[in-house]
Formats: sequence, C-alpha cells, structure tokens
Amino acid sequence: MSGLTTIEDALGSILAHVEVLPEESVPLAVAHGRVLARPARAAVDLPPFPSSAMDGFAVRAGDTPGTLPVAFRISAGRVAPEPLSPGTAAAIATGGAVPEGADSVVPVELAREVDGRVEVPEPVEPGAHVRGRGGDVEEGAVVVDRGVRLGAAQIGALAAAGIPGVLCARRPRIAVLATGSELRPPGTRLEPGQIYESNRSLIAAALSSAGAEVDLLPVVADDEAAHREAIGHGLASADVLVTSGGVSVGPHDLVRGVEDELGVEEVFWGVAVKPGKPVSFGVRGSTLVFGLPGNPVSSLVGSLLFVRPAVLALQGASEPGPAYQFARLAQPLRRNPNRDEFVRSRRRLEDAGIALEPISGQDSHMIVRAASADALVHVPRGTGEIAAGETVRYLALE
Ligand code: AMP
Ligand code: MG
Repeated sequence: MSGLTTIEDALGSILAHVEVLPEESVPLAVAHGRVLARPARAAVDLPPFPSSAMDGFAVRAGDTPGTLPVAFRISAGRVAPEPLSPGTAAAIATGGAVPEGADSVVPVELAREVDGRVEVPEPVEPGAHVRGRGGDVEEGAVVVDRGVRLGAAQIGALAAAGIPGVLCARRPRIAVLATGSELRPPGTRLEPGQIYESNRSLIAAALSSAGAEVDLLPVVADDEAAHREAIGHGLASADVLVTSGGVSVGPHDLVRGVEDELGVEEVFWGVAVKPGKPVSFGVRGSTLVFGLPGNPVSSLVGSLLFVRPAVLALQGASEPGPAYQFARLAQPLRRNPNRDEFVRSRRRLEDAGIALEPISGQDSHMIVRAASADALVHVPRGTGEIAAGETVRYLALE
C-alpha cells in the first residue's frame, strides 16, 4: 500500500533517532535488567587461587597410588600452614586453597582415611579436581561487555569477579497518555457509550519490563485544549512520550495535529502492519514521540515492535530487538498483500518442536482473546499462503 512505511524501515528510523541516555552508577543489588554502558572488568583472577573442586585429599599425583600420612587439614577460607611435603596428603574441603606442593585432589569417595593416613588405591591424574587460578576469568579481562542487559547469570558473574557496581545509561522516562472521551478507569461504572481504559496499563507493562520508568498521565478527552496541555506536559517531562488513540483519520483524531503545533517533527505515520497501521513516530529535540492506535491489540503490537526496542536502545542495548524466535506453523495462514501481519497464536510443544496455533478472534479490539495467546506470528505481506509445517518467526508474549 503506497505511503506506508515497512516495519523494517520504521524500526530503522526510530533507532536512528535514539541518543543513548547519560550514564549513572548502579549498585549491583539493583542492576538486574540494566544495560552496561562500559565493559565491566574482573577485579581479580577467578578463582583467585587454585582451589579444590571436591571434598578430599590434596596430593602430588606422583605419590599415587599409595598410603600417605595426612599432614594437615584445610577448610574453605583458610590457607595451608605450610607447603605440602612430598609423600604426604592434606585433607581439603571443596573451595579450599590447594597447598603449594600439591597438584591434584583425590575425592573422599576414592580414598580411605584410617589412623591419620589416607589410602589412595588408584593413580591420580595431575591437575585432577583442582580449579586453576584464573580458569574462569583473569584479572582485568571483560566479565560482561557494554550493551549487554544484565540477567541473573551476569549479575552473579560481576559479583564473583569482585565488581560491586556498574555504569549504566539511566532508565528512560516514559510518559504514557491515553486519549478518548469514551474511556473510563476500571472499577468505575460505565455509562452508555463508554468503555474501560486499558492501554495505559498495557503499554506500561510492555515498557517497564524493558527498563523504562513509566509515568501514567491522566486520560485525555477528545478536545484540542486538553490534548495540548497533556501532550505539552508529556513532552516536557519525558524522554519518550507514548500516546494511545487519536492517530487515525477521524475528526476526533487530534494527536498528530497538536503534536505538530507543539514542535514535534513527524518522521513517519502509517506502517504496513496489521494490527497497528496508523502508528506515528516523531521527535522533538531528543524526545521520541510515538502515537499508537487506540485498539488495545494495536497498542500492544506497536509497543512491542517499535517502542520497546527504542527503550532498550536508549539504554545502549546492543541488541534492542524485537527478539524473534522460530517455530513451525500448525495451520496454513493467508498472506496479506499490503501489510505484514502479526497473528496471535499459542505455542504447543510437540515431539518435532514447537508448533504455533493461531487463536480465534484476531480483531484488534479483542484484547481478551489476545491474552490467551503467547506468541505473535509474523506473516510477511505477499500473495498466497504460508503452508502448515513451514518455519515462521514469532515474538513471544510474556
Ligand atoms: P482510536 O485509535 O482513538 O480511533 O481508537 C480506536 C478504538 O480503540 C476505539 O474503539 C477506542 O474506543 C478504543 N480505544 C482507544 N483508546 C483506548 C484505550 N486507552 N483503552 C481501550 N480502548 C481504547
Ligand atoms: Mg479515539
């Protein structure tokens, strides 16, 4: 369809307008989900000393097999009083420092201690059950690189390597504004013609899980003055303004006109995607401005395809996504000649892998149907259909 931007071009121009936010230092205890602004380097060799991988006896491999007097005992956190003399053994706990003079550890299961002597019936390989100093990482080497988003393993690695805090771009501040005179908060009574407002919570959930600090602005009626005030406030206070509703072609669709008046330069309006076609994107200075269509599933898809990657890119993520996965289609799907489609589907685990089963109820207002899906299958625009069994890409809904 002429005039519509492709999803690839839309995402490309969004990312081209992103300026990574300034750095701040973040203690490790609250760094989960944050993106490193600089590589974090190990403060020590890890392990910092040759340590035992087992409870057992530190020995010289050359002294085995044999029966060796136990010269001393080493618990975790203590070091040996002296180097191990040839022909002797030291009892050692997992994590204990292997004494100088020893080159291997015999696990307790493979030895027998009687009257202060340990019998080692089998020969031991040099280096057996000894974790070498620096075997995981060496002092000064990169533990986690810049641009990486910190999960549990990365947090653990940073702590283990002696790093108490990291430098990260600060979290983006996102103002979320819903427009529509028909919208009422859940928990109130609906009058005729009204519906419950869902997009602010939906957008907040989609973005806060990517590290955004979300500010929910009050719902705005379809009135120019109200729009001007609310959009002006959002632009002044946030790194990203996300509006929902009011970006189509109806007489009550006021968002783009008001944004234009307030100095937002529109970068695109209309993407060849279903749902979510009328999505708009603009900038004012370094502030990114997204206009998501009001139908809740359109807001969901627009948040995941366009806004979430921007939120991650603002934090300097090297892979801002969206992160597609691949699986087989359980049923054929007809392609749309004009627009890429995102089909709400469920993943089913089969012997041959994951099969994607489209759900019934694909209309863009059907957010409850969408809530029973756990995948958005990407059907690229084109002719004909994608056959059952073909591999397609999808976005997981979490
Ligand atoms: P609009 O994009 O403003 O034309 O809205 C499209 C449809 O989405 C209409 O049926 C609206 O009532 C509905 N809608 C708009 N905003 C919201 C919202 N925040 N929550 C739930 N539904 C909405
Ligand atoms: Mg509206």
